[in-house]
Amino acid sequence: YAASAGDAWQLHGGSDEGDLSNELSLLGELDDAVANGEIEVAYQPKLDLATDRITSVEALVRWRHPTRGYLRPDLFIPIAEKGGRITGLTLAVLERTIADLEAWAAAGTPVTGAVNLSAKLVASREFMGLVRERIERAGIAPSMLTFEVTESAAMTDPAGAAAALGAFRALGVRISMDDYGTGQSTLSYLKQLPLDELKIDRSFVQFAHTNRGDAVLVRSTVDLAHELGLKVVAEGVEDAPCLAYLRSIGCDMAQGYLISRPVPANALAELLAIQDAQ
Ligand code: C2E
Ligand code: CA
Ligand code: CA
Ligand code: CA
Repeated sequence: YAASAGDAWQLHGGSDEGDLSNELSLLGELDDAVANGEIEVAYQPKLDLATDRITSVEALVRWRHPTRGYLRPDLFIPIAEKGGRITGLTLAVLERTIADLEAWAAAGTPVTGAVNLSAKLVASREFMGLVRERIERAGIAPSMLTFEVTESAAMTDPAGAAAALGAFRALGVRISMDDYGTGQSTLSYLKQLPLDELKIDRSFVQFAHTNRGDAVLVRSTVDLAHELGLKVVAEGVEDAPCLAYLRSIGCDMAQGYLISRPVPANALAELLAIQDAQ
């Protein structure tokens, strides 16, 4: 099931769909989508390489559109950001994720969960207040939640980002730097941000076991991140030799199609139950 669903989602990312009238109609439909429960969350496991267990998942938003089919985030996240709908959309994802984490914990298979934050939300006081409310009401510890933030979000206003991320962290939430390596930041700069985790972008991970340049980059990033006390996640792991390489250099966690595609909550629950029975 998982593989075919993943493939279906891949079909709806065409850039020719990005014309203005189409964007406007999607934007209009987005409000209804949130209200009608068309916004769904797929979960992709992160494998802990020290224990070989799934201890964490990333929440990836999907839109089950009544006529257009399953829509990938690339198609509507930028529209939501431009059209002022990203707060509502992200809250819907956060609420769904908290509910699913609660259910998995109640079933005796607890995992931590990560939600992606758009750059605009990092410095939003309104969003911060809404997150605080949701976290105070949640039936899981705040430390079970991570926010993934991209480098560019932090780079536009480093001091502001540091303060905002610090405020999230004061709530007990973990902070992860997403897509590391694709932006301009250096690890010495990252040192100034309140971070718990660093995710190395798929573009470097993919060929780390075959390309010497990528290998040097990934290995030195793992070492330096550890020096800074950060956990390291490699994203986009698609084959076994890549995973073996990551293991050999002491990378903490791996995420990618080799381990699992993003899957619906019920499929993830099954994965967790199977692993628990072993
Ligand atoms: P991301 O945060 O870098 O998420 C990882 C993306 O890579 C996901 O695509 C995932 O399905 C895909 N992926 C995972 N493993 C592999 C692999 O082994 N090989 C390949 N080729 N791809 C892999 P997806 O779900 O289409 O999400 C795309 C982007 O949309 C995400 O990139 C993230 O930046 C954004 N996004 C997703 N959900 C949300 C959300 O709730 N809020 C915001 N603001 N952005 C979101
Ligand atoms: Ca992410
Ligand atoms: Ca990422
Ligand atoms: Ca990425």
